[in-house]
Amino acid sequence: MKRILFLALFLAAGILSAWSQGALDLNSKIPFDKKIITGKLDNGMTYYIVKNDNPKNRAELSIAVKAGSIDEDEDQLGLAHFCEHMAFNGTKNFPKHELVNYLESIGMKFGAEVNAFTSFDQTVYGITVPLDSMPILDKGLLVIYDWACNVSYEGEEIDKERGVIHEEWRMGRGAQDRMMQKYLPVIFHNSKFAKRLPIGTMDIVDKCPHDALKRFYRDWYRPDLMAVIAVGDFDEKMMEQKIKDVFSKIPKATNPRKKENADIPDHDDILISIVTDKEAPMTTAQLFYKHPEFKQVTVKDYRTSLAQNLFSMMISKRLQELTLLATPPFMQAACMYTKFLGPKDIYISFALTQNTGLEKGLETIVEENERVKRFGFTQTELDREKKSFLKEVEKQYNERNKRKSQSILSELRGHFMDQDPLPGLEVDWELCQKYIPDIKLEDVNALAKQWITDKNLVAVIMAPEKDDVKVPTEAKVKEIITTVKNKDLKPYEDKVITKPLVSKEPTPGNVAKKTENKKLGYSEWTLNNGIKVILKNTDFKQDEIQFSAFSKGGWSNNKDQDAVAAEIAADVISESGLGEFDNMELDKYLSDKTVNVTPFINETDEGMNGSCTPKDFETLLQLTYLYFTAPRKDETAFTSYINKSKGMLENNSTNPEMVWRDSITTTMSVNHPRKKPMTIKRLEEAKLGRVDYVYKQRFGDPSNFTFVFVGNIDQKIAEPLIAKYIGGLPEVKREESFKDLNVGMPKGIVDKKVLKGKEDKSFVYMSFPGNFEWNQKNKIEIEVLSLILNIKLIETIREDKSGVYTISSYPQLTHYPNGKYNFLIFFPCSPDNIDRLSEGVMAEIEKLRKDGPTEIDLNKAKEQKLRDRETNLRENNYWLNTLKGFYFHGDSPDGFSDFEQTVKSLTVAKIKEAATKYLDPKNRVRVMLKPENL
Ligand SMILES: [Zn+2]
Repeated sequence: MKRILFLALFLAAGILSAWSQGALDLNSKIPFDKKIITGKLDNGMTYYIVKNDNPKNRAELSIAVKAGSIDEDEDQLGLAHFCEHMAFNGTKNFPKHELVNYLESIGMKFGAEVNAFTSFDQTVYGITVPLDSMPILDKGLLVIYDWACNVSYEGEEIDKERGVIHEEWRMGRGAQDRMMQKYLPVIFHNSKFAKRLPIGTMDIVDKCPHDALKRFYRDWYRPDLMAVIAVGDFDEKMMEQKIKDVFSKIPKATNPRKKENADIPDHDDILISIVTDKEAPMTTAQLFYKHPEFKQVTVKDYRTSLAQNLFSMMISKRLQELTLLATPPFMQAACMYTKFLGPKDIYISFALTQNTGLEKGLETIVEENERVKRFGFTQTELDREKKSFLKEVEKQYNERNKRKSQSILSELRGHFMDQDPLPGLEVDWELCQKYIPDIKLEDVNALAKQWITDKNLVAVIMAPEKDDVKVPTEAKVKEIITTVKNKDLKPYEDKVITKPLVSKEPTPGNVAKKTENKKLGYSEWTLNNGIKVILKNTDFKQDEIQFSAFSKGGWSNNKDQDAVAAEIAADVISESGLGEFDNMELDKYLSDKTVNVTPFINETDEGMNGSCTPKDFETLLQLTYLYFTAPRKDETAFTSYINKSKGMLENNSTNPEMVWRDSITTTMSVNHPRKKPMTIKRLEEAKLGRVDYVYKQRFGDPSNFTFVFVGNIDQKIAEPLIAKYIGGLPEVKREESFKDLNVGMPKGIVDKKVLKGKEDKSFVYMSFPGNFEWNQKNKIEIEVLSLILNIKLIETIREDKSGVYTISSYPQLTHYPNGKYNFLIFFPCSPDNIDRLSEGVMAEIEKLRKDGPTEIDLNKAKEQKLRDRETNLRENNYWLNTLKGFYFHGDSPDGFSDFEQTVKSLTVAKIKEAATKYLDPKNRVRVMLKPENL
């Protein structure tokens, strides 16, 4: 109470800002955000409360436990995670599956709004609850209270959950995991972390006595190691009182068990781990430079963290620049300094290379690190990055009242777990304005000497085991790392050009006609050149305008011989720069702006998507203008794109999951020649001339495009700019639509087995395809049907049969060229269980077809749909898609207004009818991945 009174006095005196200014000296402590209510109950439990109204009418409630797999005893490997699972299988006030049942009944989805995770050092639970009434909030608090102290651990439920966790473990199996098992002990240098991976060992998960599990809960789920966190659209004083009332009931721990502090021991030598696997999906080189944890306490530390960020961004940009070469040393690369585990941080350098480019890739990241260490960054790089950084912080500051409750919650958790500073966005902005301009080259350059060291360095090489892949020896890796010091390197040269983005100004047009939809609050403008522009002003975000432009047509208009060119044209062009700027010059030009525009070409339409801040709206329009009028035919960018794409594809044929995915693609299109998966061989057909031709043809007629803008857009400011850049686009009158390529659909029962990989693991893709009449009513029906089926599948296939960790269904709907649906169901499982589980799925479908859903399940699904809609209506992206629906799909605005009514009017009979129509057991596809030895 004292703290609040103290704060109130300052506010009343109006000297808050003077006080915080004084507190921002380098030697003072980083201030703590005054909007956060925090405290400790007598039993030792910490709490954090923040009032926040995005999303409206929702509260995020969370329990964070400072305990994870690192706290397990030898007989408990995997049980920290097992405890997390048991929280959903019966508590004192919510026996058996009542908890999930209850949350679903108020429209919250298991997985999305009801979730948890376990890591080495923490276990976290969270739910989202609507705030319609006090009883709902109270019950939400009761849920997290039960998690903190009342989990039942019934023997029968424990035994049923073993299978679910076993399936979760199985999902993680594969080449990546096999390699990780080998290199992690090297990185962790045989510390306790290597023997405490959160998933644990299946021997213990399958057979552990119930008491070993309960012991973990008893030892570590205690008030002094827990925090309750609440962020949402509620009165914070009321919430504080409630938290005090509810959580003070938990008794203080008596004789609490002592926590051991695990560390990763230091080493002077460079440690090297080279791991290969026949099914390895990619080739990578990684350098882990481990350092003692950097803690931010004072403003000086905060300033150092700013320099750290600038460093990571600048070196990553240098690496990114190298990916633009015609023959790049890697497909992707990055460096960053970050928190690691226990009291350790890491500076990590990473490169994803072609199979044959491993040594070159490793050498390049080693050299770039050395170049920074020897010569530092340049003043122009630093100036540019500072601007870009400040711009980003300013954006966050401008959006400070529109933040998502979830993101605030995770920051509060960071404070509880790691004492991360929480100055709040106002102070963040003040600190950044004060200290970013003040950071000098020496400050940033000094970090290179501190971070890039041989001590505590681990190099990890991962590669596929193949005849043509030359994997370096340990000696070679060591040589590359150590000899760089004697290499003749030159300082980095920062090439920047200063000229206007649009070299030839367009002749402005005008807005010829304006109409308005008052009910849904959007305007439709028709420009002089025939282009339609739709604008909707929203207040959901202060600093965001989202944009989409589209036109019917797409690659269905291109001939078969241009199939590959058409598939890659939009990507190639967006990597080629624009107008007089090549890609890197454009990137540098845009570095202090928040704007992006990306062209796309789909089967039946082409267009652009993008977003910007209101300040950068003109730049967004300029980029759009240039994508129509000045795409570049750039040989280097094209060759670079092809080389990188080949690198991304070269291990697909040995990667079981990719082979299975490709098989789904060809099965679902009945081997249509235009729906073939991309391969290296197909890529080789692509010629720059044809790519350029296809792109210009697709975007050659701006006048049949519709532009939609949603966000904080001021129509008065926007009008002259839109008239200039969109109205200034050349008018070509071309009537164009898509062509029907007659892509077929599989008929009857189709069962395909893909035998690939050695892991005892399967994926099952089931699908019910058919024709679909595109309208709002049908869309809602098939989506609600899928929500109901999801609830049933989790209950039966996961919980009753313990057969899967995840299983879900989803309707894919297409409108053009013909209305089609593809109702798909996906689950990973043990190869032995495919048939049993598939039958289980079919049995649930049969029940829906025969009797329809229960009234309870129907209501859960309706509630989910309505809850989603409630939050969606305050999202720019949702409106963008809705408006695109009106103008591209011809959806009816009336149908949109009737949404709630249509959902509410759904009945058991209607869903039964939908199940009969969309889930026909005689028309079912199944594509299964099985290990090759079966
Ligand atoms: Zn799990």
